[in-house]
Amino acid sequence: MAEGGVDSPTDPEDAFMTLSNDLRLEILLALWDAPDFSLSFAELRKAVGERDSGTFTYHLDELVGHFVGETADGYELQYPGHRVLDAIQSGVFHQRGTVGPVELEAPCPDCGAALTFTYDADYIGRVGCPDCDERVLEWPFDPGGVADRTPREVAAAFDRRTRLIWGCALDGVCPFCAGRVDREIAEGAGSTGLCIGVLEDLDRYDEYFARDHPAVVSLDCRRCSFYSFVPVGVVLLQRPRVTGRLHERGLDTRETPLWELGFVVDADPVVVREVDPPTVAVTAELPDGDPVVALVDADLSVTLADR
Ligand SMILES: [Zn+2]
Ligand SMILES: [Zn+2]
Repeated sequence: MAEGGVDSPTDPEDAFMTLSNDLRLEILLALWDAPDFSLSFAELRKAVGERDSGTFTYHLDELVGHFVGETADGYELQYPGHRVLDAIQSGVFHQRGTVGPVELEAPCPDCGAALTFTYDADYIGRVGCPDCDERVLEWPFDPGGVADRTPREVAAAFDRRTRLIWGCALDGVCPFCAGRVDREIAEGAGSTGLCIGVLEDLDRYDEYFARDHPAVVSLDCRRCSFYSFVPVGVVLLQRPRVTGRLHERGLDTRETPLWELGFVVDADPVVVREVDPPTVAVTAELPDGDPVVALVDADLSVTLADR
């Protein structure tokens, strides 16, 4: 345990109850719209249009101290207030978005047809092949990401955000609650080795786009509901020794979208070399010849190897 710690001046139930009122949300939104996120009492009351002073004061007081801070000049949004608005703007509580299918400038790894991106009302972004039904990449995405973007820009944002979430979680930090994430290499359904069977027992793994990979990294936040899997090849994207080698050989892993990185999304480049403890070889094919092979160990350390 680190020195310090977490205390809970408010129960989560009370905090959510505090927000369950139109006028209180309007107060937060008015402060968010204001210069420096702050307004005087009179400005704030005018902004939300509440005529009854007693009603306004009562609801404002309920927010003060946690979501809203008092200043010499009035009131300002505090960090928890910002986070409430961020969650609202992500759209997940009250919106649904749909996009596409939009054709991407990338061929299906199986049949060569153009891949498409779609975003459906189930909050999942999907890159796949309309001809052979190959599922290349699927991950949740927030409806807020659809606003003010063309369909292709949504696909690009989906690529960026998925990387960010994967990278943060693979580093052991939850991208949603900042808690500790346990990471473990687990054999997948595509394994031809001694399959440990754990993943096959999980219903949600049936739906996982990379369930044909022989191994995946399982991610489990100790604090919140975040629990998922990522392809082992994603680990390579976070290792400068690997990305540097690939860059020297003409593959820019930052500029290339995830669905074009075969060592991330395809099953074939992933081979389980050792089971206990696990070592997984991931092969990055390069247009100019010899592939780059990286070995990922149980602790997610990576070494470059010859094939
Ligand atoms: Zn295809
Ligand atoms: Zn978490």
